[in-house]
Amino acid sequence: MKFGGTSIGTASAMKRAMQIVAGEKEKNVPLVVLSACSGITNRLIQIAEAAGESRLDEAMALSGEVREHHRVLADVLINDEARRKAVVEKVEMYITELDMLIKGVDIVGELTARSFDTFCSFGELLSTTVFSEAMLEAGHENVWFDIRKVMITDDNFSIARPLEDLCEKNVKNVLKPLLECGKIVVTQGFIGSTRDGKTTTLGRGGSDFTAALLGAWLPSDEIQIWTDVNGVMTCDPRIVPDARSIRVMTFTEAAELSYLGAKVLHPDTIAPAVKQNIPVYVLNSLHPEAKGTVITNDPAILEGMSYGGLVKSIAVKKGQCIINFRSNRMLGRHGFMADIFNVFARVGVSVEMISTSEVSVSLTVSELASLEELLTELKKIGEVEIELDVATISVVGDNLRTSKGVAGRIFSAMKDVNIRMISQGASEINVGFVVEGEDVPKAVQNLHHEFFSGSESSGIFEEPANTR
Ligand code: ADP
Ligand code: ASP
Ligand code: MG
Repeated sequence: MKFGGTSIGTASAMKRAMQIVAGEKEKNVPLVVLSACSGITNRLIQIAEAAGESRLDEAMALSGEVREHHRVLADVLINDEARRKAVVEKVEMYITELDMLIKGVDIVGELTARSFDTFCSFGELLSTTVFSEAMLEAGHENVWFDIRKVMITDDNFSIARPLEDLCEKNVKNVLKPLLECGKIVVTQGFIGSTRDGKTTTLGRGGSDFTAALLGAWLPSDEIQIWTDVNGVMTCDPRIVPDARSIRVMTFTEAAELSYLGAKVLHPDTIAPAVKQNIPVYVLNSLHPEAKGTVITNDPAILEGMSYGGLVKSIAVKKGQCIINFRSNRMLGRHGFMADIFNVFARVGVSVEMISTSEVSVSLTVSELASLEELLTELKKIGEVEIELDVATISVVGDNLRTSKGVAGRIFSAMKDVNIRMISQGASEINVGFVVEGEDVPKAVQNLHHEFFSGSESSGIFEEPANTR
């Protein structure tokens, strides 16, 4: 059971999450994976940056806010005085470590990738500490577990990848026996450790990935991702308020959606589940009674809820830019694409969407990529233009593979929008296009209306969640 930041960010949210865990314990012994409380990882990143730029006062003030947040949680959730004192001491211990790190980085005057990950790790360490103690206070026996003992990763700080065989062995030897004794285990998402004990992180939003990996290594019967919406929806409800919850999806659909920008699941979550064929449930901690979404390849479940519509969901990825590259030398020449992609590889920029003609290539990349260096290098082999502040919109659904007419419907819904690029994914279950950032709400709302307001939207959807 993984709970995201908003599901444990406040005392009342933590209480709800605790009840959900206790309810599950009636049936199965859960392994509980927690994120940091909402907003805390962002604050830790600000602290790291402030320390690295020798803004010591700012870093220390922010650290005070992190301390205060967790002290308040302990105050509200833990009545027993001795226990509360012990929890506050544990919080203080982490904050003292954090403050020492701040001072160390300030003195050295440089924030390394290694220390950055250590900064980020305090969020999960603190949230799990408070949660575990609050569970004990409420009479739910559990064990707090430092996941860095089993989640051993490579040393690609900030985007570390687990050493799978070693981790699986560790989980089977160390974590599984705890669960088999009937104890709820409370542990951290997102963080890990190198073989030599340096703290690493798996990338933003990585707690979903942790939960899926642990679920696959145990293996567990199911993986539950508890968040703040009723499962995977037909679109981000922040953009389309009347988005509906999708009751069932295939692994491929869910993977595609998350790669294409739907933040509800970290893009790496699905692969471990597929490997062991473990169903992933995406559930709402604010409305635990809602059915949420099950992601599965189980034919019985999929057939039981067969879906005749074309599109199942719409994903949006903002903060992109288009690189338009042109060179007459491309005409009829082989090897030119290799030259272009070599530039991307050398500069370390990942390409997202591509569309080509005989003499030009358009590619999208994240606005956060090393754009200056990329453009300088590309200009050595051709003409380059860049369009900033664009977004990729993708419609996704297994039925796109076999159905006709989807492009027509997309483009009629998009008639008032300037489409900058188009691409149909090789997986055949998505069609994507790029629009200017300011056109996103209009484009997505029109598309949503086109695909989800008619009668084809059958029983696999629930009505708008009204959870916000
Ligand atoms: P958590 O902290 O629980 O990991 P996230 O903020 O990472 O939660 O993910 C949940 C958010 O994802 C939702 O609040 C919603 O705004 C956003 N989201 C984007 N696309 C979708 C989608 N297709 N279905 C549901 N939520 C989506
Ligand atoms: N706390 C981490 C983040 O904010 C990981 C997570 O929430 O999944 O990115
Ligand atoms: Mg998340």
